[in-house]
Amino acid sequence: MAWWFGIKLWKRVFLGLVLGVIFGLAVSQFMEAAAAEALLEKVRVVGTVFIRLIRMIVVPLVFFTLVAGIYAMGDPKKLGTIGIKAFLLYIFTTFFANLIGLGMGTLFQPGKGVDLGGAEPKVMDADAPSLGERLLSIIPENPFAALVEGDMLAVIFFALLLGVGLLMAREAGQAAGRFFEAGAEGILQMTHIIMELAPFGVFGLIAYVAGTQGIATFTAILSLTLAVYVGCALHMLIVYGGLVRVILRLPFVDFFRGILDPMMVAYSTSSSSATLPVTIRAANENLGVKKSVAGSVLPLGATINMDGTSLYLGIVALFTAQAFGYSLEPQHYFLIALTAALVSIGTAGVPSASLFLLAIVLEVFDVTPEHTALVIGFIFPFDRLLDMMRTVTNVTGDTAVATAVAKWEGELDEEVFRAKPLS
Ligand code: ASP
Repeated sequence: MAWWFGIKLWKRVFLGLVLGVIFGLAVSQFMEAAAAEALLEKVRVVGTVFIRLIRMIVVPLVFFTLVAGIYAMGDPKKLGTIGIKAFLLYIFTTFFANLIGLGMGTLFQPGKGVDLGGAEPKVMDADAPSLGERLLSIIPENPFAALVEGDMLAVIFFALLLGVGLLMAREAGQAAGRFFEAGAEGILQMTHIIMELAPFGVFGLIAYVAGTQGIATFTAILSLTLAVYVGCALHMLIVYGGLVRVILRLPFVDFFRGILDPMMVAYSTSSSSATLPVTIRAANENLGVKKSVAGSVLPLGATINMDGTSLYLGIVALFTAQAFGYSLEPQHYFLIALTAALVSIGTAGVPSASLFLLAIVLEVFDVTPEHTALVIGFIFPFDRLLDMMRTVTNVTGDTAVATAVAKWEGELDEEVFRAKPLS
Protein backbone atom coordinates (compact mmCIF):
# COMPACT_ATOMS: atom_id res chain seq x y z
CA MET A 1 0.00 0.00 0.00
CA ALA A 2 2.64 2.52 1.08
CA TRP A 3 4.68 1.49 -1.95
CA TRP A 4 1.72 2.08 -4.28
CA PHE A 5 0.84 5.48 -2.84
CA GLY A 6 4.52 6.40 -2.85
CA ILE A 7 4.52 6.35 -6.66
CA LYS A 8 3.52 9.66 -8.25
CA LEU A 9 -0.09 9.63 -9.40
CA TRP A 10 0.68 10.42 -13.05
CA LYS A 11 3.03 7.45 -13.16
CA ARG A 12 0.33 5.19 -11.77
CA VAL A 13 -2.20 6.52 -14.29
CA PHE A 14 0.31 6.04 -17.10
CA LEU A 15 0.91 2.49 -15.93
CA GLY A 16 -2.86 1.90 -16.05
CA LEU A 17 -2.94 3.25 -19.59
CA VAL A 18 -0.11 1.08 -20.89
CA LEU A 19 -1.24 -2.07 -19.08
CA GLY A 20 -4.80 -1.43 -20.29
CA VAL A 21 -3.68 -1.38 -23.93
CA ILE A 22 -1.62 -4.56 -23.48
CA PHE A 23 -4.39 -6.32 -21.59
CA GLY A 24 -7.10 -5.34 -24.09
CA LEU A 25 -5.04 -6.41 -27.09
CA ALA A 26 -3.99 -9.67 -25.43
CA VAL A 27 -7.55 -10.57 -24.46
CA SER A 28 -8.91 -9.90 -27.93
CA GLN A 29 -6.01 -11.77 -29.52
CA PHE A 30 -5.84 -14.89 -27.39
CA MET A 31 -9.36 -15.44 -26.09
CA GLU A 32 -12.41 -16.65 -27.88
CA ALA A 33 -14.51 -13.65 -29.09
CA ALA A 34 -17.55 -14.02 -26.80
CA ALA A 35 -15.45 -14.71 -23.71
CA ALA A 36 -13.14 -11.81 -24.53
CA GLU A 37 -16.06 -9.43 -24.86
CA ALA A 38 -17.57 -10.59 -21.57
CA LEU A 39 -14.25 -10.06 -19.80
CA LEU A 40 -13.71 -6.64 -21.36
CA GLU A 41 -17.24 -5.60 -20.35
CA LYS A 42 -16.40 -6.53 -16.75
CA VAL A 43 -13.15 -4.60 -16.79
CA ARG A 44 -14.94 -1.64 -18.31
CA VAL A 45 -17.17 -1.34 -15.23
CA VAL A 46 -14.23 0.05 -13.23
CA GLY A 47 -13.83 2.70 -15.93
CA THR A 48 -17.53 3.50 -15.85
CA VAL A 49 -17.40 3.93 -12.07
CA PHE A 50 -14.49 6.33 -12.50
CA ILE A 51 -16.27 8.37 -15.19
CA ARG A 52 -19.45 8.55 -13.14
CA LEU A 53 -17.50 9.78 -10.13
CA ILE A 54 -15.90 12.64 -12.03
CA ARG A 55 -19.05 13.48 -13.92
CA MET A 56 -20.83 13.62 -10.57
CA ILE A 57 -18.84 16.67 -9.52
CA VAL A 58 -18.75 18.54 -12.84
CA VAL A 59 -21.96 20.57 -12.48
CA PRO A 60 -21.45 21.63 -8.85
CA LEU A 61 -17.79 22.28 -9.56
CA VAL A 62 -18.50 24.56 -12.51
CA PHE A 63 -21.15 26.41 -10.57
CA PHE A 64 -19.12 26.88 -7.40
CA THR A 65 -15.72 27.58 -9.01
CA LEU A 66 -17.19 30.03 -11.46
CA VAL A 67 -19.04 32.07 -8.83
CA ALA A 68 -15.99 31.86 -6.55
CA GLY A 69 -13.64 32.68 -9.45
CA ILE A 70 -15.56 35.84 -10.37
CA TYR A 71 -15.85 36.78 -6.72
CA ALA A 72 -12.07 36.34 -6.28
CA MET A 73 -11.45 38.87 -9.07
CA GLY A 74 -12.60 41.53 -6.64
CA ASP A 75 -13.75 43.84 -9.42
CA PRO A 76 -16.43 43.14 -12.04
CA LYS A 77 -14.34 45.00 -14.64
CA LYS A 78 -11.66 42.34 -14.41
CA LEU A 79 -14.17 39.83 -15.72
CA GLY A 80 -14.36 41.87 -18.92
CA THR A 81 -10.60 41.92 -19.49
CA ILE A 82 -10.17 38.24 -18.61
CA GLY A 83 -13.13 37.33 -20.82
CA ILE A 84 -11.85 39.30 -23.81
CA LYS A 85 -8.32 37.91 -23.52
CA ALA A 86 -9.59 34.34 -23.20
CA PHE A 87 -11.94 34.78 -26.13
CA LEU A 88 -9.30 36.24 -28.43
CA LEU A 89 -6.95 33.40 -27.57
CA TYR A 90 -9.65 30.81 -28.22
CA ILE A 91 -10.11 32.28 -31.69
CA PHE A 92 -6.38 32.67 -32.32
CA THR A 93 -5.58 29.05 -31.46
CA THR A 94 -8.60 27.69 -33.33
CA PHE A 95 -7.43 29.52 -36.45
CA PHE A 96 -4.17 27.55 -36.36
CA ALA A 97 -6.05 24.33 -35.63
CA ASN A 98 -8.00 24.85 -38.84
CA LEU A 99 -4.87 25.53 -40.84
CA ILE A 100 -3.21 22.40 -39.51
CA GLY A 101 -6.36 20.30 -40.02
CA LEU A 102 -6.72 21.34 -43.65
CA GLY A 103 -2.98 20.89 -44.15
CA MET A 104 -3.08 17.35 -42.78
CA GLY A 105 -6.15 16.48 -44.84
CA THR A 106 -4.33 17.63 -47.96
CA LEU A 107 -1.06 15.96 -47.07
CA PHE A 108 -2.36 12.55 -45.97
CA GLN A 109 -5.28 12.40 -48.44
CA PRO A 110 -7.14 10.11 -46.01
CA GLY A 111 -10.20 9.72 -48.23
CA LYS A 112 -8.36 8.74 -51.41
CA GLY A 113 -9.31 5.27 -52.58
CA VAL A 114 -11.46 4.56 -49.51
CA ASP A 115 -14.40 2.32 -50.26
CA LEU A 116 -17.40 3.37 -48.21
CA GLY A 117 -19.66 0.81 -49.84
CA GLY A 118 -19.66 -1.48 -46.80
CA ALA A 119 -20.53 1.28 -44.34
CA GLU A 120 -23.88 1.34 -42.64
CA PRO A 121 -25.44 4.77 -43.27
CA LYS A 122 -26.18 6.72 -40.12
CA VAL A 123 -28.83 9.40 -40.19
CA MET A 124 -28.50 12.47 -38.08
CA ASP A 125 -30.70 13.76 -35.37
CA ALA A 126 -33.28 15.59 -37.49
CA ASP A 127 -34.62 17.94 -34.87
CA ALA A 128 -31.39 19.61 -33.81
CA PRO A 129 -32.16 23.16 -32.59
CA SER A 130 -31.34 26.08 -34.87
CA LEU A 131 -28.48 28.44 -34.14
CA GLY A 132 -30.87 31.11 -32.89
CA GLU A 133 -32.52 28.68 -30.48
CA ARG A 134 -29.16 27.53 -29.25
CA LEU A 135 -28.01 31.06 -28.53
CA LEU A 136 -31.23 31.90 -26.73
CA SER A 137 -31.02 28.80 -24.57
CA ILE A 138 -27.79 30.14 -23.05
CA ILE A 139 -30.07 32.29 -20.90
CA PRO A 140 -31.80 29.82 -18.59
CA GLU A 141 -35.46 30.40 -17.83
CA ASN A 142 -34.86 28.56 -14.63
CA PRO A 143 -31.24 28.29 -13.45
CA PHE A 144 -32.08 25.41 -11.14
CA ALA A 145 -33.46 23.42 -14.05
CA ALA A 146 -30.23 24.19 -15.94
CA LEU A 147 -28.24 22.84 -13.00
CA VAL A 148 -30.36 19.71 -12.80
CA GLU A 149 -30.08 19.08 -16.53
CA GLY A 150 -26.36 19.87 -16.59
CA ASP A 151 -26.92 22.50 -19.28
CA MET A 152 -23.39 23.90 -19.17
CA LEU A 153 -23.66 27.16 -21.07
CA ALA A 154 -26.77 28.14 -19.16
CA VAL A 155 -25.09 27.27 -15.84
CA ILE A 156 -22.03 29.31 -16.85
CA PHE A 157 -24.17 32.30 -17.81
CA PHE A 158 -26.04 32.28 -14.52
CA ALA A 159 -22.90 31.71 -12.43
CA LEU A 160 -21.10 34.60 -14.15
CA LEU A 161 -23.93 36.98 -13.36
CA LEU A 162 -24.28 35.71 -9.80
CA GLY A 163 -20.55 36.26 -9.22
CA VAL A 164 -20.83 39.81 -10.54
CA GLY A 165 -23.93 40.37 -8.43
CA LEU A 166 -22.12 39.28 -5.26
CA LEU A 167 -19.24 41.64 -6.05
CA MET A 168 -21.65 44.50 -6.59
CA ALA A 169 -23.32 43.72 -3.26
CA ARG A 170 -19.97 44.53 -1.54
CA GLU A 171 -20.16 43.80 2.24
CA ALA A 172 -23.57 42.20 1.96
CA GLY A 173 -22.19 39.71 -0.58
CA GLN A 174 -19.15 38.69 1.46
CA ALA A 175 -20.64 35.79 3.37
CA ALA A 176 -22.11 34.27 0.22
CA GLY A 177 -18.85 34.87 -1.68
CA ARG A 178 -16.92 32.98 0.99
CA PHE A 179 -19.52 30.23 0.94
CA PHE A 180 -18.88 29.68 -2.77
CA GLU A 181 -15.10 29.81 -2.24
CA ALA A 182 -15.33 27.18 0.48
CA GLY A 183 -17.66 25.03 -1.63
CA ALA A 184 -15.32 25.23 -4.64
CA GLU A 185 -12.38 24.23 -2.48
CA GLY A 186 -14.31 21.31 -1.00
CA ILE A 187 -15.37 19.99 -4.38
CA LEU A 188 -11.86 20.40 -5.74
CA GLN A 189 -10.56 18.33 -2.85
CA MET A 190 -12.99 15.60 -3.87
CA THR A 191 -11.02 15.19 -7.08
CA HIS A 192 -8.05 14.09 -4.97
CA ILE A 193 -10.11 11.19 -3.67
CA ILE A 194 -11.57 10.32 -7.06
CA MET A 195 -8.22 10.50 -8.83
CA GLU A 196 -6.92 7.69 -6.65
CA LEU A 197 -9.20 5.50 -8.70
CA ALA A 198 -7.84 6.92 -11.96
CA PRO A 199 -5.15 4.28 -12.60
CA PHE A 200 -7.79 1.52 -12.42
CA GLY A 201 -10.46 3.51 -14.25
CA VAL A 202 -8.07 4.39 -17.06
CA PHE A 203 -6.99 0.75 -17.24
CA GLY A 204 -10.61 -0.41 -17.62
CA LEU A 205 -11.54 2.20 -20.23
CA ILE A 206 -8.45 1.72 -22.36
CA ALA A 207 -8.54 -2.08 -22.12
CA TYR A 208 -12.08 -1.99 -23.48
CA VAL A 209 -11.20 0.33 -26.36
CA ALA A 210 -8.02 -1.56 -27.24
CA GLY A 211 -9.77 -4.92 -26.97
CA THR A 212 -12.84 -4.03 -28.99
CA GLN A 213 -11.19 -1.78 -31.58
CA GLY A 214 -7.65 -3.11 -31.58
CA ILE A 215 -4.90 -2.76 -34.13
CA ALA A 216 -7.23 -3.68 -36.99
CA THR A 217 -9.02 -0.38 -36.46
CA PHE A 218 -5.85 1.62 -36.75
CA THR A 219 -4.96 -0.05 -40.01
CA ALA A 220 -8.48 0.14 -41.50
CA ILE A 221 -8.46 3.90 -41.30
CA LEU A 222 -4.73 4.31 -41.00
CA SER A 223 -4.29 7.51 -42.95
CA LEU A 224 -7.29 9.21 -41.30
CA THR A 225 -5.99 8.20 -37.87
CA LEU A 226 -2.49 9.37 -38.75
CA ALA A 227 -3.78 12.68 -40.09
CA VAL A 228 -5.73 13.34 -36.86
CA TYR A 229 -2.97 12.15 -34.51
CA VAL A 230 -0.14 13.96 -36.27
CA GLY A 231 -2.25 17.11 -36.70
CA CYS A 232 -3.23 17.20 -33.02
CA ALA A 233 0.32 16.49 -31.86
CA LEU A 234 1.71 19.28 -34.07
CA HIS A 235 -0.96 21.68 -32.88
CA MET A 236 -0.19 20.97 -29.23
CA LEU A 237 3.57 21.18 -29.64
CA ILE A 238 3.80 24.12 -32.01
CA VAL A 239 0.81 26.30 -31.16
CA TYR A 240 0.40 25.69 -27.41
CA GLY A 241 4.10 24.98 -26.90
CA GLY A 242 4.93 28.11 -28.89
CA LEU A 243 2.45 30.20 -26.91
CA VAL A 244 3.96 29.02 -23.63
CA ARG A 245 7.61 29.21 -24.68
CA VAL A 246 7.82 32.13 -27.09
CA ILE A 247 4.99 34.43 -26.07
CA LEU A 248 4.76 33.73 -22.34
CA ARG A 249 8.45 32.88 -21.90
CA LEU A 250 7.73 29.97 -19.63
CA PRO A 251 9.39 26.54 -19.71
CA PHE A 252 7.72 24.33 -22.27
CA VAL A 253 8.46 21.04 -20.50
CA ASP A 254 7.02 22.21 -17.19
CA PHE A 255 3.78 23.09 -18.93
CA PHE A 256 3.25 19.65 -20.41
CA ARG A 257 4.52 17.91 -17.29
CA GLY A 258 2.03 19.86 -15.20
CA ILE A 259 -0.96 18.70 -17.23
CA LEU A 260 -0.15 15.02 -17.67
CA ASP A 261 -3.05 14.02 -15.41
CA PRO A 262 -5.78 15.81 -17.38
CA MET A 263 -4.20 14.71 -20.66
CA MET A 264 -4.38 11.06 -19.65
CA VAL A 265 -7.88 11.36 -18.25
CA ALA A 266 -9.01 13.12 -21.44
CA TYR A 267 -7.44 10.39 -23.54
CA SER A 268 -9.22 7.63 -21.69
CA THR A 269 -12.62 9.30 -21.16
CA SER A 270 -12.95 11.18 -24.50
CA SER A 271 -14.80 13.90 -22.67
CA SER A 272 -13.40 17.33 -21.89
CA SER A 273 -16.37 18.02 -19.67
CA ALA A 274 -15.75 14.93 -17.54
CA THR A 275 -12.06 15.83 -17.36
CA LEU A 276 -12.77 19.36 -16.14
CA PRO A 277 -12.28 18.74 -12.40
CA VAL A 278 -8.87 17.22 -13.08
CA THR A 279 -8.01 20.07 -15.46
CA ILE A 280 -8.86 22.73 -12.90
CA ARG A 281 -6.88 20.97 -10.22
CA ALA A 282 -3.79 20.55 -12.41
CA ALA A 283 -3.90 24.16 -13.65
CA ASN A 284 -4.19 25.43 -10.12
CA GLU A 285 -1.82 23.10 -8.29
CA ASN A 286 0.81 22.32 -10.93
CA LEU A 287 0.79 25.37 -13.20
CA GLY A 288 0.08 27.96 -10.53
CA VAL A 289 -2.96 29.45 -12.31
CA LYS A 290 -4.83 31.30 -9.56
CA LYS A 291 -8.40 30.32 -8.83
CA SER A 292 -9.92 33.51 -10.22
CA VAL A 293 -8.65 32.54 -13.68
CA ALA A 294 -8.69 28.73 -13.43
CA GLY A 295 -12.25 28.80 -12.08
CA SER A 296 -13.56 31.03 -14.85
CA VAL A 297 -11.49 30.38 -18.00
CA LEU A 298 -11.39 26.59 -17.75
CA PRO A 299 -15.13 25.82 -17.43
CA LEU A 300 -15.80 28.15 -20.33
CA GLY A 301 -12.96 26.61 -22.34
CA ALA A 302 -14.17 23.07 -21.70
CA THR A 303 -17.52 24.09 -23.12
CA ILE A 304 -16.63 26.23 -26.11
CA ASN A 305 -12.91 25.98 -26.90
CA MET A 306 -12.29 22.82 -28.89
CA ASP A 307 -9.33 23.08 -31.21
CA GLY A 308 -8.91 19.31 -31.57
CA THR A 309 -12.53 19.07 -32.67
CA SER A 310 -12.18 21.87 -35.18
CA LEU A 311 -9.00 20.32 -36.59
CA TYR A 312 -10.69 16.94 -36.86
CA LEU A 313 -13.78 18.31 -38.62
CA GLY A 314 -11.58 19.94 -41.26
CA ILE A 315 -9.81 16.65 -41.92
CA VAL A 316 -13.07 14.70 -42.15
CA ALA A 317 -14.51 17.28 -44.55
CA LEU A 318 -11.52 16.78 -46.87
CA PHE A 319 -11.82 13.01 -46.34
CA THR A 320 -15.40 13.20 -47.62
CA ALA A 321 -14.48 15.31 -50.64
CA GLN A 322 -11.67 12.90 -51.53
CA ALA A 323 -13.74 9.76 -51.00
CA PHE A 324 -16.65 10.89 -53.19
CA GLY A 325 -14.75 13.10 -55.62
CA TYR A 326 -16.30 16.47 -54.72
CA SER A 327 -14.10 19.19 -56.15
CA LEU A 328 -13.22 21.98 -53.77
CA GLU A 329 -12.63 25.62 -54.69
CA PRO A 330 -10.45 27.89 -52.53
CA GLN A 331 -13.52 29.48 -50.96
CA HIS A 332 -14.68 26.06 -49.81
CA TYR A 333 -11.54 25.67 -47.71
CA PHE A 334 -12.29 28.95 -46.05
CA LEU A 335 -15.93 28.00 -45.42
CA ILE A 336 -14.96 24.57 -44.08
CA ALA A 337 -12.57 26.23 -41.63
CA LEU A 338 -15.17 28.74 -40.56
CA THR A 339 -17.98 26.24 -40.01
CA ALA A 340 -15.64 23.74 -38.34
CA ALA A 341 -14.65 26.46 -35.87
CA LEU A 342 -18.28 27.42 -35.22
CA VAL A 343 -19.41 23.81 -34.86
CA SER A 344 -16.57 23.13 -32.42
CA ILE A 345 -17.90 25.95 -30.23
CA GLY A 346 -21.33 24.35 -30.19
CA THR A 347 -20.02 20.83 -29.56
CA ALA A 348 -20.68 19.38 -26.12
CA GLY A 349 -17.63 18.03 -24.32
CA VAL A 350 -18.82 14.43 -24.43
CA PRO A 351 -17.68 11.42 -26.47
CA SER A 352 -18.26 11.58 -30.24
CA ALA A 353 -20.29 14.77 -29.97
CA SER A 354 -18.77 16.43 -33.00
CA LEU A 355 -19.20 13.51 -35.38
CA PHE A 356 -22.95 14.05 -35.28
CA LEU A 357 -22.56 17.71 -36.17
CA LEU A 358 -20.45 16.91 -39.19
CA ALA A 359 -23.35 17.52 -41.59
CA ILE A 360 -23.22 21.25 -40.88
CA VAL A 361 -19.63 21.38 -42.16
CA LEU A 362 -20.34 19.13 -45.15
CA GLU A 363 -23.25 21.34 -46.25
CA VAL A 364 -20.66 23.93 -47.22
CA PHE A 365 -19.82 22.01 -50.38
CA ASP A 366 -23.26 20.50 -50.91
CA VAL A 367 -22.57 16.93 -49.88
CA THR A 368 -25.73 14.89 -50.39
CA PRO A 369 -27.51 13.61 -47.24
CA GLU A 370 -26.81 10.03 -48.38
CA HIS A 371 -23.09 10.67 -48.60
CA THR A 372 -23.08 12.41 -45.24
CA ALA A 373 -24.86 9.44 -43.64
CA LEU A 374 -22.35 7.08 -45.23
CA VAL A 375 -19.35 9.01 -43.95
CA ILE A 376 -20.74 9.16 -40.42
CA GLY A 377 -21.60 5.47 -40.58
CA PHE A 378 -18.10 4.67 -41.81
CA ILE A 379 -16.26 6.66 -39.16
CA PHE A 380 -18.58 5.93 -36.25
CA PRO A 381 -17.18 2.50 -35.30
CA PHE A 382 -13.65 3.93 -35.20
CA ASP A 383 -14.45 7.35 -33.85
CA ARG A 384 -13.38 6.55 -30.32
CA LEU A 385 -9.71 6.42 -31.29
CA LEU A 386 -9.94 9.77 -33.04
CA ASP A 387 -12.03 11.24 -30.25
CA MET A 388 -9.43 10.37 -27.62
CA MET A 389 -6.78 12.43 -29.37
CA ARG A 390 -8.96 15.42 -30.18
CA THR A 391 -10.20 15.53 -26.59
CA VAL A 392 -6.59 15.64 -25.31
CA THR A 393 -6.02 18.57 -27.68
CA ASN A 394 -9.17 20.32 -26.50
CA VAL A 395 -8.16 20.02 -22.86
CA THR A 396 -4.55 21.04 -23.50
CA GLY A 397 -5.81 24.12 -25.36
CA ASP A 398 -7.94 25.14 -22.40
CA THR A 399 -4.99 24.97 -20.01
CA ALA A 400 -2.72 26.86 -22.44
CA VAL A 401 -5.26 29.68 -22.71
CA ALA A 402 -5.79 29.73 -18.93
CA THR A 403 -2.03 29.93 -18.38
CA ALA A 404 -1.67 32.81 -20.84
CA VAL A 405 -4.58 34.78 -19.38
CA ALA A 406 -3.28 34.18 -15.85
CA LYS A 407 0.18 35.38 -16.81
CA TRP A 408 -1.13 38.55 -18.45
CA GLU A 409 -3.42 39.29 -15.52
CA GLY A 410 -0.68 38.78 -12.92
CA GLU A 411 -2.57 35.74 -11.63
CA LEU A 412 0.10 33.13 -12.35
CA ASP A 413 2.30 31.82 -9.57
CA GLU A 414 5.44 31.16 -11.57
CA GLU A 415 7.18 29.51 -8.66
CA VAL A 416 4.51 26.81 -8.71
CA PHE A 417 4.74 26.58 -12.50
CA ARG A 418 8.47 25.92 -12.32
CA ALA A 419 8.35 23.81 -9.17
CA LYS A 420 8.60 20.53 -11.07
CA PRO A 421 5.90 18.89 -8.96
CA LEU A 422 6.11 15.61 -10.80
CA SER A 423 9.82 14.93 -10.95
N1 ASP B 1 -15.16 14.37 -27.24
C1 ASP B 1 -14.81 15.73 -27.49
C2 ASP B 1 -14.59 16.44 -26.18
O1 ASP B 1 -15.18 16.12 -25.19
C3 ASP B 1 -15.83 16.45 -28.31
C4 ASP B 1 -15.86 15.92 -29.72
O2 ASP B 1 -15.10 16.41 -30.57
O3 ASP B 1 -16.62 14.98 -30.00
O4 ASP B 1 -13.80 17.35 -26.09
